[in-house]
Amino acid sequence: MELLKDRVKLQSPVVRLDQTGETVIVETLNHEVYHARYVISAIPPVLTTKIHFSPDLPPIRNQLIQRLPMGSVIKTMMYYKEAFWRKLDYCGAMFIDDENSPVEITLDDTKPDGSSPAIMGFILSRRSSALTNLTKEERKKRISEYYAKVIGTDKALHPVHYEEKNWCEEQYSGGCYTAYFPPGVMTQYGSVIRQPVGSLYFAGTETATQWSGYMEQFKLGREQPES
Ligand SMILES: Cc1cc2nc3c(=O)[nH]c(=O)nc-3n(C[C@H](O)[C@H](O)[C@H](O)COP(=O)(O)OP(=O)(O)OC[C@H]3O[C@@H](n4cnc5c(N)ncnc54)[C@H](O)[C@@H]3O)c2cc1C
Repeated sequence: MELLKDRVKLQSPVVRLDQTGETVIVETLNHEVYHARYVISAIPPVLTTKIHFSPDLPPIRNQLIQRLPMGSVIKTMMYYKEAFWRKLDYCGAMFIDDENSPVEITLDDTKPDGSSPAIMGFILSRRSSALTNLTKEERKKRISEYYAKVIGTDKALHPVHYEEKNWCEEQYSGGCYTAYFPPGVMTQYGSVIRQPVGSLYFAGTETATQWSGYMEQFKLGREQPES
């Protein structure tokens, strides 16, 4: 951010994009106006429904952006006095295949120097919606009870701290990890996901041709030589 200086505008959501004149006019919620020859939008498609477009978007694009909902995830961090699971020879990564468990996937998030022992857990999709109206304290209790059950020790019942982030409440994320294509949307509307509209081009993870939805590329199995 230091190198970029004020070229990146924070707290400035785009609300209007006008391509009716010679330049593209981009206006933000705080009434700043920018003129550009080209614009690249790297916003999750559904969030572009908050932008007023002139002229109107082409029909298929306008329909596409209404059909790509964001996923539902609550990210949780359970902090402990010590990484007790390591003493039991567990790595802290759990896949909990139990419909009643609030969390499905965990990772050991203890810092590399051993400080802040913690287990990170994701509350995913329908579980996230089902548990969203509980209090933070209730979620903490349910999660630590499940950790105790899975790891097999009451030590998990006594976290020293708990943090969580419900990504579904974020107005300018809408949810996470990414947008998803419900059945039929890719085949009916998907062809326009990367198609420019006038001088407006589209980027962002939803437009990726590989590892869409991620920012990293995970290496699975043996690397294939490039053909
Ligand atoms: C909890 C969590 C865990 C994740 N874990 C991983 C992981 O381990 N590995 C991995 O590869 N990926 C992970 N992801 C996914 C990864 O974060 C996304 O794939 C990546 O951030 C997408 O990048 P992007 O630039 O396309 O969009 P984003 O990072 O979503 O950026 C879009 C930006 O557009 C802004 N915006 C929205 N509306 C407007 C508007 N009207 N005007 C201006 N700006 C606007 C938003 O504020 C945001 O800054 C995770 C995501 C979450 C939330």
